[in-house]
Amino acid sequence: MTTPVPLPVAQWADVAIVGAGLCGLALARVLTARGLRVQVLEARSRLGGRVLTAHCEATDQHLDLGPTWYWPETEPRIVALLAELDLSSFNQHDPGDALWLTDPSRAPERHLHAGGVHAGARRIQGGAARLVEALASALPPDTVRLDAEVKSLRDRGSCIEISLQTSDEQAEFSIRDHGAGAPDYALPQIFDRFYSLPRPATGRKSTGLGLALVREVARLHGGEASFENHPEGGGLARIRLPKH
Ligand SMILES: Cc1cc2nc3c(=O)[nH]c(=O)nc-3n(C[C@H](O)[C@H](O)[C@H](O)COP(=O)(O)OP(=O)(O)OC[C@H]3O[C@@H](n4cnc5c(N)ncnc54)[C@H](O)[C@@H]3O)c2cc1C
Repeated sequence: MTTPVPLPVAQWADVAIVGAGLCGLALARVLTARGLRVQVLEARSRLGGRVLTAHCEATDQHLDLGPTWYWPETEPRIVALLAELDLSSFNQHDPGDALWLTDPSRAPERHLHAGGVHAGARRIQGGAARLVEALASALPPDTVRLDAEVKSLRDRGSCIEISLQTSDEQAEFSIRDHGAGAPDYALPQIFDRFYSLPRPATGRKSTGLGLALVREVARLHGGEASFENHPEGGGLARIRLPKH
């Protein structure tokens, strides 16, 4: 009877995105549409990052406290995104004078801009947060994790899974990678002394002693070492050692 000792080897996402601001959510939407499993990790307890819209109960107005405007001429992607998400927009009110506070110790100056001050800017109906909400609601459930600050990232290259199974009689370590595996012709000789294959990265051969020593040590302890190609790709090495 073997007792599996679970180790965290499951892949929980194809792509992890740090930050549920406008960029993170828009990217998650595109990747999800391509069939990838995406996790968005957001440090704050709300979506949107710098996008923040407040609702005024008294006037029933939505006030953008962060990003407010977009310019259709120079931001065609935002125009396309709003259309895809069926969000409406309106022209920023422009006519009239503008007050410019150039010196805090003096009263603001009144300027009249013939062509308007916002240069054709538009705003999203209901505030910029509507865009964030629409992007987030188009994602599969549990795609975004709030209160999840990413504190460190480690590049593990092609990941290696190590597991240990024990029974009353023996312990078995299995080590699997996700590389190319070994060519079938090499499998019968892979533990032979001085037998080696060119390394994929450098093309150089190694001494051919490593695996021979591993098997020798395993056998000296009354155990065995083996290697096979995993049916789903990569190599799978096993070392079995007796407990007594
Ligand atoms: C006051 C103000 C007014 C603006 N006005 C306009 C405007 O009118 N028009 C316009 O186009 N742009 C405007 N901008 C710029 C606009 O806000 C940004 O370009 C845009 O919101 C950036 O989106 P983002 O997703 O790249 O980044 P952010 O909105 O900054 O989102 C990044 C997210 O990542 C999260 N995060 C960061 N580190 C971690 C971590 N380690 N782990 C987990 N999560 C993390 C943050 O909490 C945040 O939610 C304005 C910005 C401000 C501040």
